Amino acid sequence: MKRIITALLLLAFMALPSCTEGRAEVYSVSITAMDTSCTVTVYGEDNKAAADACKELLLGIEAELSVTLSGSKVYALNTGGKVETGTHLKAVAEKAIGIKSITDGAFEPCIYPLVKLWGFTTGDNRVPSSKAITEAVGLVNNSVLKVSGNTVSITDGMVDFGGITKGYAADMLAEELKGAGVEAAVISLGGNIKTLGSKPNGKPWNIGISSPDGGGKLLGTLAVGECAVVTSGSYIRNFTENGKLYHHIIDPRTGYPADNGLVSVTVVCDDAAMADGLTTAFFVMGMEKASSLAKALGVDTVFVTDDCIYVSAGLKEKFTPDDSTRDEYSVIYN
Ligand code: ADP
Ligand code: MG
Repeated sequence: MKRIITALLLLAFMALPSCTEGRAEVYSVSITAMDTSCTVTVYGEDNKAAADACKELLLGIEAELSVTLSGSKVYALNTGGKVETGTHLKAVAEKAIGIKSITDGAFEPCIYPLVKLWGFTTGDNRVPSSKAITEAVGLVNNSVLKVSGNTVSITDGMVDFGGITKGYAADMLAEELKGAGVEAAVISLGGNIKTLGSKPNGKPWNIGISSPDGGGKLLGTLAVGECAVVTSGSYIRNFTENGKLYHHIIDPRTGYPADNGLVSVTVVCDDAAMADGLTTAFFVMGMEKASSLAKALGVDTVFVTDDCIYVSAGLKEKFTPDDSTRDEYSVIYN
């Protein structure tokens, strides 16, 4: 847990603009929501109220979409099979169905029976029996999530939007800030960063990519304009049994945590919900398939294995390896 917090805080810190650069007034609010540390940083003198309003919006999204909170819409959907959509459920369900389709099922919104079986929401982590895994895979594959008018329904199974909720929330917060007239901000929700506008000093935003060793080091930084930078890693939530590491991104076809050599995936594009869903899907697909899909979709990526960092062509000028880990990784631009 300490490793998770250190890694997330580091990402958040890297996204924080310095108060001295550009001499613009900077105001940050932090809150723990969606099981992670969330920070919204705004520039400009009159933007404190807008940043504060983000807290309520974030808690509202969590209250509606959490898979574990018993008052949530997702909880009602999973227990009742059908629910009238609230403010966010329909949009998230539609987005999730779309990402499942473009990733050929690697992103699976009905994954919850498997996530629960592995204990990733209860904290009761263990390697399930192969019989239990086969049953859960069958259930996941038979589940159908549907949006019809204002009703969201699922046949069999259970949904879990944990793979896109933080990205979706980052998009919502950015809209909220824009609507309030904020012109420059950084939203940091765990590994989900969304920047708004450009830094008042004219320099790019510097977003750190954490080292998978969890020790608080960075692999490098990305110098970007307004965009979403989302990272998912096997080092974020995991447990070890009999010397083997099991993490929270599950291949819906096998029922086991994806195991293809990737330890971290970063996606850079405009839409944070899409970036979040794609990081999860790319982790499942493995680098080769993921890389060709990323190219077809026009999104930039950073894939990390045990000893290599693969940076897509569009990020070549934007990525700077960090001195603290430079010797441990080869950087390959593709
Ligand atoms: P986090 O930022 O919480 O680490 P990720 O974006 O990395 O989240 O997604 C992992 C989460 O997505 C898991 O905790 C689980 O809730 C859900 N999940 C796991 N495997 C899949 C999958 N194949 N498709 C969709 N969602 C998944
Ligand atoms: Mg994700």
